[in-house]
Amino acid sequence: MPLFRPALAASGRVVVVGGGWGGLTVARQLRLLAPQLEITLLDRAPAFMSFALSNRWLVEPGAATWARHDYAQLAGRFGYRYVQAEVESIDPVRRTVASSAGQFGYDWLVLAPGIRENWSAWQVDDPKIVAELQGRYSGAMLSAADLPALKQRLANFKGGDLLLTIPPAPYRCPPAPYERAMFIAWWLKKQKIPGKLIVADPNPMMPAFRDILLSRFKDQVTYLAHSKVRSIDPAWKTVSTDIDDIRFDDALLCPPQQAADLLWRAGLIRQEEGGKDSGWAAQGASDFRSAAAPGVFIIGDAAGLVSPQFGYYPKTGQVANRMGHAVARQIAAEAGGQALDKLLPDSVCYVTSSVEPEESVRIDTSYRDRGDGFLIQAVKQTRNPNPAGEDAAWAAAMYREFIAGSAS
Ligand SMILES: Cc1cc2nc3c(=O)[nH]c(=O)nc-3n(C[C@H](O)[C@H](O)[C@H](O)COP(=O)(O)OP(=O)(O)OC[C@H]3O[C@@H](n4cnc5c(N)ncnc54)[C@H](O)[C@@H]3O)c2cc1C
Repeated sequence: MPLFRPALAASGRVVVVGGGWGGLTVARQLRLLAPQLEITLLDRAPAFMSFALSNRWLVEPGAATWARHDYAQLAGRFGYRYVQAEVESIDPVRRTVASSAGQFGYDWLVLAPGIRENWSAWQVDDPKIVAELQGRYSGAMLSAADLPALKQRLANFKGGDLLLTIPPAPYRCPPAPYERAMFIAWWLKKQKIPGKLIVADPNPMMPAFRDILLSRFKDQVTYLAHSKVRSIDPAWKTVSTDIDDIRFDDALLCPPQQAADLLWRAGLIRQEEGGKDSGWAAQGASDFRSAAAPGVFIIGDAAGLVSPQFGYYPKTGQVANRMGHAVARQIAAEAGGQALDKLLPDSVCYVTSSVEPEESVRIDTSYRDRGDGFLIQAVKQTRNPNPAGEDAAWAAAMYREFIAGSAS
């Protein structure tokens, strides 16, 4: 067997679906850790675009700091293969994925396809109406490619009621909608735009934004607590919640989020007790393996429940990146016939909580195994009254790992 393993490793094929924070990290790290493996990255899009640091840019003049990165260039730079393709299905028995660019066989498959929006929860089932709503009122939380259109829409907003709906938890980047609301409120005030931002929130409000949204920008913001959207009437520009109907002139609609379509098609969604779909993937809490499909890992925002205590890992880019590291190490160890300790994720998130005066909050989330496989989560929030570009430095360090060259 020891003689057999290197021969197997030399022909090992890894397919990575999704070139976001998770998938790009796996591809890059695996190339470093296991040069003998054949690595293929599949994504329907031609380029990576990041959400990080986009909220300020939405309301400020200037070019994007989060420019796009062509997958073909990244693949060339780091030495893995990229194929632009829509992945349609997975055959876990034959170990193949079917895509718009043909079939790909794998020994290990990493699924990092991100999220989808659940418009059915708002009683919208017609794909044409969904496409229309996404085109006219997208909250731009699904794809960073939607951000420039949202910026343009905000620039065209001359007054009236601007609705921002916050998705029910869990959703990607928990502080992002509050930070976005704060930037929009600040911009409405500064530009003296006769408009109101209506924030419909089904979750408890993030404490760091309570004072600024409820007091400092009280003329710009109407905050509706306990507001879970039940339906939408696009013709009347109205959403209905349990409490009230809300009319809008323009909107950033963010419906409930779920794991991406591919995981539903592949039957890899976790069932809750009673057989109801949880909406998110079924994978191990610390090895990210699918119990249903051997050799398959699921990482990033699509990942489902990991703990009865805290529920889900925060759906952030850094967590997706850390999961990518953990999976790359597992595959490299398996290919080399070695054992490996588990690597748990962590997350650092910088949030601007005020523009004038400038103030930010750093959120640190970390995990440890209690010793019996049960995970403990620790969250620390630190207020920074004098930010000095820590958020940009964090983003640059992250991008260095899977975009700009040097790896950790
Ligand atoms: C407004 C906003 C601000 C944010 N700011 C931060 C921040 O400051 N810091 C932070 O850490 N996180 C931030 N996040 C969260 C972060 O963007 C996500 O956590 C991260 O993108 C998750 O990475 P992922 O790899 O799971 O999925 P994604 O980045 O969504 O990548 C999924 C990829 O899979 C591809 N794909 C999906 N299905 C298929 C298929 N069937 N076939 C082919 N390709 C497919 C998609 O095209 C996409 O490229 C923010 C999010 C938002 C919305």
